[in-house]
Amino acid sequence: MPVAVGSAQVERIEEQHIPVAFSLLAPAPGLVADGPADPAAAGHHPAGEATFQFSNHSWLIRADGLTVLVDPCNGNGRQRRVPFFNDLNLPWLDRLKAAGAAPEDVDVVFCTHLHSDHCGWNTVRAGERWVPTFPQARYLFAEAEYRRWDPADQHANQYNESVFDECVRPVVAAGQARIITPPFTVSDSLTIETAPGHTAGHSLLRLESRGERAYFTGDAFHHPVQVERPELCLPGCDDPVQAVATRQALLSRLDRERAYLFPAHFAAPHYGRVQRQDADFTFVPAAPGALA
Ligand SMILES: [Zn+2]
Repeated sequence: MPVAVGSAQVERIEEQHIPVAFSLLAPAPGLVADGPADPAAAGHHPAGEATFQFSNHSWLIRADGLTVLVDPCNGNGRQRRVPFFNDLNLPWLDRLKAAGAAPEDVDVVFCTHLHSDHCGWNTVRAGERWVPTFPQARYLFAEAEYRRWDPADQHANQYNESVFDECVRPVVAAGQARIITPPFTVSDSLTIETAPGHTAGHSLLRLESRGERAYFTGDAFHHPVQVERPELCLPGCDDPVQAVATRQALLSRLDRERAYLFPAHFAAPHYGRVQRQDADFTFVPAAPGALA
């Protein structure tokens, strides 16, 4: 069931869950953990578990008469070095249709960044080629992120090998890409803003409708413990110290605006709010089962 934010509707489209080791969460270089680094200690998981569930999902937003898709996961049939992302055959597209959005219904696609797990369903295979999955959609790419991954700039990495060629270039070739410079107004209630660090051009989507606010923050957060311990990062950030600064600034806004936080990878209930507690922040998950 979708959740309402003002007059907008938000729905989660699941691709998969994968296990990730807690021990990968570590302070950014030059920073020390300002408290317990164990997510179990922060109350999010049973003590003693070595892994947490890392959800891969997209957010489907209906606002201002638009159907907007945020972060279209990994996609099927991709050859990827990360085993959990390699050669998938998952019913993500069926789940999108079950949520009432056939590919031709999607008006806007926004990738917070261009890692393989955030833009895979931008395209689907058609014979030997990759073509846009959503034939009517405008695909919005932040310019700094687009430049960061364009192989012509020689700035690629092995983890993200061939993603730009498969998931971005065919969209450009079809004339459906729009390279934007945040802040960028998508519609009356939707704005794209910069949120750099995880990648150079990482961006977020802000929703404001009838006085309610929500932030679709991509990988500015990977795990709820980063609300309490924003200095913790998973490996793979372009600039971990910048990622921490972005996270800290976002926490203040989320608390001040009493906004919803809709990250790309939190396990159930997948979203919530942030509250200041003395000098720190705490994550307040949405009611269990609020989103399947
Ligand atoms: Zn991700």
